[in-house]
Amino acid sequence: MNTTDQQCTICGKESEIGLHIVSSFICSSCEQEIVQIDVEDERYPFFVSRMKTILYEPNANA
Ligand SMILES: [Zn+2]
Repeated sequence: MNTTDQQCTICGKESEIGLHIVSSFICSSCEQEIVQIDVEDERYPFFVSRMKTILYEPNANA
């Protein structure tokens, strides 16, 4: 079992490289999309809602 892979909170894919925010993980490709995405992009609301999930996620795993 590869413990270095983490599941991305945004896209659900597993990746070794990415960003840790609070108790969540964002893969490098999603990180790039988030910093580059335009507010008029149709996926913008999706990213915003996922980011809210990350930032306001309660410590459910504790
Ligand atoms: Zn991702």
